[in-house]
Amino acid sequence: MQRYSVAMVGSGAWACAAARMIAQNTEVDDAADEFVDDVRMWVFEEDVEGKKLTEIINTTHTNPKYFPGFDLGPNVVAVPNIVDAVADADLIVFCAPHQFLHHICKQLVGKIKPGAAAISLTKGMRVRPEGPQLISQMVRRLLGIDCCVLMGANIATDIGREQLSEAVIGYDNLDAAVLFQKIFQRPYFRVSLLPDPVGAEMCGTLKNIVALGAGMVDGLGLGPNSKAAVIRQGLMEMKAFSKALYPSVRDDTFMESCGVGDLVATCYGGRNRLVACEWTKAQLAGTPRTFEDLETELLKGQKLQGVLTSNEVQEILKVRGWETQYPLFTTVNRIINGYLPPKYAVDFVAGSKYHI
Ligand code: NAD
Ligand code: 13P
Repeated sequence: MQRYSVAMVGSGAWACAAARMIAQNTEVDDAADEFVDDVRMWVFEEDVEGKKLTEIINTTHTNPKYFPGFDLGPNVVAVPNIVDAVADADLIVFCAPHQFLHHICKQLVGKIKPGAAAISLTKGMRVRPEGPQLISQMVRRLLGIDCCVLMGANIATDIGREQLSEAVIGYDNLDAAVLFQKIFQRPYFRVSLLPDPVGAEMCGTLKNIVALGAGMVDGLGLGPNSKAAVIRQGLMEMKAFSKALYPSVRDDTFMESCGVGDLVATCYGGRNRLVACEWTKAQLAGTPRTFEDLETELLKGQKLQGVLTSNEVQEILKVRGWETQYPLFTTVNRIINGYLPPKYAVDFVAGSKYHI
């Protein structure tokens, strides 16, 4: 029987939490042992307290910089060279911040094992002059392999603590999706299959803009009613925008963990929320800070996706003349770029006229 080998491309918080789950599954030796035990994880190499991060991971089985306090398991093997990490992989998991994925994929052109399949856990999109491109579409186009997506309310540290979480695998190719479901599914991590990969990935991408709005609500010192208004409007805009770009996107996708589930989790417990909250407080205090500065201070190397995504999505809205149809997306974008003060994050929802 063929045994599938799995590689993880990425070593941040979610990449580590996901690699840990995969490693828990692949190390089981049962009658139908379908997977090679070792999970090779490509690590963007750096020095951490005078040592190489790959050496630390391979000796301590932890990633103290991006996923402190969690044992990854002895069968997660850190590899500094990206081609070496994926060369023998049958199943490739992409989980790096979206701004790095194009460069990553270009290094892998022509280096992938024939017949390999991919899945993307990355939340974000790419905007080129000829139009938007989802990360899964980019992987498919550059590497010529199938790519499904895993999206959901998946805050990495909660999954590291093995708290119940849900996700969907959005797929075109059911056989590949079933294999990926086997490597992710855990008693605390429930994975269902959804035949709407584009809808799932659009949800994961767009909720990061709404989370900035939710963080602004928190920074303004407002309560759950106001945040609920932002979340409700955000969900409407996520759905309308996804369907406007990709008419095949299904309505029920927005009721899944990748939709309303992820929106709620991120708007209450995510990094985009946290940084937008502190950014808003600094604005109100008259001591403004930049998002880059707060990202460095608060996330310590982890990356914010929402600010880039807001600017990327806004470019599409502008080019298509859709800005007024998406008042939350547009207001958040105006605020983060300094054209409106943060209080408009809720004013536009409450009032009948939009300040955009
Ligand atoms: P992270 O934000 O925790 O860490 C940043 C990663 O980027 C590190 O591994 C760092 O080594 C790497 N990096 C820095 N510079 C780089 C470069 N020039 N080229 C390549 N890599 C570089 O990462 P993460 O949390 O694993 O996020 C990856 C994706 O997963 C994102 O799209 C994010 O939205 C998504 N996601 C994150 C969570 C979460 O809770 N952290 C949950 C679900 C989805
Ligand atoms: P943040 O990047 O805002 O932490 O969101 C994490 C996430 O996507 C949870 O599903």
